[in-house]
Amino acid sequence: MPESRRDEIASGLAEVRERIRQAAAGAGREPTDVTLVVVTKTWPASDLRLLHDLGVRDVGENRHQEAEEKAAELADLEFTWHFVGQVQSNKATHIAAYADTVHSVDSVRVAQRLNAGAHQHERELDCFIQVNLDPEAARKGRGGVVAAEVDDVAHAIETAGRLRLVGVMGVAPLDADAVAAYADLHETSERLVARYPSARFISAGMSGDFEAAIRAGATHVRVGSAVLGQRALLR
Ligand SMILES: *Cc1c(COP(=O)(O)O)cnc(C)c1O
Repeated sequence: MPESRRDEIASGLAEVRERIRQAAAGAGREPTDVTLVVVTKTWPASDLRLLHDLGVRDVGENRHQEAEEKAAELADLEFTWHFVGQVQSNKATHIAAYADTVHSVDSVRVAQRLNAGAHQHERELDCFIQVNLDPEAARKGRGGVVAAEVDDVAHAIETAGRLRLVGVMGVAPLDADAVAAYADLHETSERLVARYPSARFISAGMSGDFEAAIRAGATHVRVGSAVLGQRALLR
């Protein structure tokens, strides 16, 4: 008989939690210093109900429309909603209606639009600045702000009113050395913390490389497929 979806998710979750525990222990850190954000993009709301039942409270989505629908459908459950995808500034005010934490603030304009949305919906948002770790993506204007612009975005977030600057986020380049990328992110984090002591969190690491990220100081790992299985090809 095939495994139930609940069993499948429970075993993926147990495995990832154990990998986090070992990576943290190996780095001389407490496993409780690392928040597991389960990235649920493409998976149905029913999977989020199972995750909730298995003790998960932090979930991540990367597309506004899908995230908005799931947040509405699951409004009866206590989740912390993490938005991890690129924020189109015309969607930012809507994202502020349901997201608790945005990992991907990548411009002053996006910060301003999120703040306007937070104001409109009488909410507050935790914000990570997405820092570019991939020169190839930077050339295409994607993947976050370059290190030199972090200060401008940090200032915009800190002075906006309804946004709290909590740290930096990075996505390691696919075909390059994640260890080096996460070391760079850690350096950027240290410079930011020197100016904004409460912005001490680091969102880094996905299914393939979260151990390396934890060794480099990640406090939030964003893990999808290692918990939920291989996603179908993106629509
Ligand atoms: C999809 C996604 C993840 C999770 O990726 P997996 O490889 O499935 O763990 C993490 N971060 C971001 C920004 C994503 O879009």
